[in-house]
Amino acid sequence: MFKKIDGKKIASELRTAIKKQTDARIARGLSKPGLAVILVGENPASEVYVRNKCNACEEVGFYSLSKTFPYGVTEDELLTLIEDLNNNSAINGILVQLPLPEHINEEKIIEAIDPLKDVDGFHPYNIGRLALRMPVLRSCTPKGIMTLLKSTGVALEGKEAVVIGASNIVGRPVSLELLMARCTVTTCHSRTVNLEEHVKRADIIIAAVGIPSFVKGEWVKPGAIVIDVGINRLETGKLSGDVDYDAASKNASWITPVPGGVGPMTIASLLENTLQAAELQSG
Ligand code: NAP
Repeated sequence: MFKKIDGKKIASELRTAIKKQTDARIARGLSKPGLAVILVGENPASEVYVRNKCNACEEVGFYSLSKTFPYGVTEDELLTLIEDLNNNSAINGILVQLPLPEHINEEKIIEAIDPLKDVDGFHPYNIGRLALRMPVLRSCTPKGIMTLLKSTGVALEGKEAVVIGASNIVGRPVSLELLMARCTVTTCHSRTVNLEEHVKRADIIIAAVGIPSFVKGEWVKPGAIVIDVGINRLETGKLSGDVDYDAASKNASWITPVPGGVGPMTIASLLENTLQAAELQSG
């Protein structure tokens, strides 16, 4: 019998704990943690993400502000705002909603954020610290995935972990997280040869490809833990993950659903990071 990893419930418990810690911080006479979210252009999905992030901040007692720029904003205008926010003591975390328009250099924007305010954990400083097993602010989705894995109570040390996807925001940092948890990690990408063979030997499968039902049920070793990061909108309007959930459930010991698995953890981890950043900045 497989068990479903209930990301919605785990994220909700985490948010309650963050609210308590925030109340305790304020009772100590410190400021509310503050998050600034920057959005460029009119992307309805990004607008929803930004609204959800600001609402989540309010629920746990944080201060938040969002700043929306038209698509044609210049790199200099964005850099000026980031510099202002870096120097604004009411703001502890800065998040730039990706993707940015092509005329903006994403790396340059991310690197302009003060690493101690980089609550998305994408700055080379934070990725480098993670690679060296000295994490400070950890990328939100990978951090959420590790919280889900730990919730199963299964010891991660020595497990064969196969990550499908090598992006800067999911695949690479989650591979580093798993390595830090002392798994034996294989990171697969679009040029991987015999991908199916890699997946078939995994005790832990992390699917972050962006292709609906990419991971077939028969690829899942009996007893494996399956974490599905994918969020794919089908023509029917339904959301689908990167894993064939019904077929994979037959072999998995634990599996995340889509929706209600990794998704809710990303925002919960962002809140955790913002509180952590506030604590770091108050010394
Ligand atoms: P991405 O930047 O498009 O990266 C996709 C990765 O998959 C790349 O590394 C790519 O390889 C690899 N890939 C593509 N086709 C492949 C194939 N046929 N075989 C093996 N690997 C293949 O995507 P992402 O931003 O990492 O996101 C992945 C999925 O997670 C998407 O569905 C996204 O919506 C979802 N997501 C969810 C959350 C959440 O909060 N739940 C957060 C972020 C992303 P190359 O490197 O060789 O191109």
